[in-house]
Amino acid sequence: MTQVAWRRDGVPVDAASIPGIEWEALKQVAQLGDFMMPCCKAPAVLKTSINGLAFFAHLSDECDTAPETKWHKAGKAAVMAALTSMGIESRDEVPGRSTSGDKWEADVLFSVSGRTIVIELQRSYQHLRDFTRRQERYAASGVESYWLVRKETFLTLGKATSRLLLKRDFGNVFPLGGIGTGMLPELPVAMLETEGEQVVQFGGFKTATVAVWLAGIIDGAFQYRGGSWNLG
Ligand SMILES: [Zn+2]
Repeated sequence: MTQVAWRRDGVPVDAASIPGIEWEALKQVAQLGDFMMPCCKAPAVLKTSINGLAFFAHLSDECDTAPETKWHKAGKAAVMAALTSMGIESRDEVPGRSTSGDKWEADVLFSVSGRTIVIELQRSYQHLRDFTRRQERYAASGVESYWLVRKETFLTLGKATSRLLLKRDFGNVFPLGGIGTGMLPELPVAMLETEGEQVVQFGGFKTATVAVWLAGIIDGAFQYRGGSWNLG
């Protein structure tokens, strides 16, 4: 099951953004092929869970897409659907290069108020130096970059960043106020859950919808405070 599917005309649709009555009506009139699963482009069926959660599912339970790809595609669709709902155009897999000639390919890229913003989705762990290198490449291109990672990846990354943060910014003395999730000020990261309800988590049990998180990036509410990146 997934919360976001692609409409036949290529517009990403978030089931959670559709009021219950409209969703039930849509279920009656939707034809097979009107919506496609983000993982494999197979026809999506509109469903409602016993808890009243609207979602899309495969017609048959089978999907050959690897978990890695599935998470990545569901995440991209979630980000793009949220941006669409905010009236912001976005593109995925956008190539670019920095002034020094380093190439990159952005998972999702959009522009707002003269800023170019990239959302990178990383399911499996990559070394901290790879996060940093990719972040610096975007900075050198005048692009802001924000990361959405799977919870397990966030926790592993947090171990590496905490060590660096303590050493670099606190002289290895653990501060009285703590270091929150131990993230770095130069590397904005949040967690994304794509199974079932799509939510962004920041640590400290704080969550937001993808749209609220993106709005926080745009209006500056998503900030680094006391070792954590979160919404104020
Ligand atoms: Zn699939």
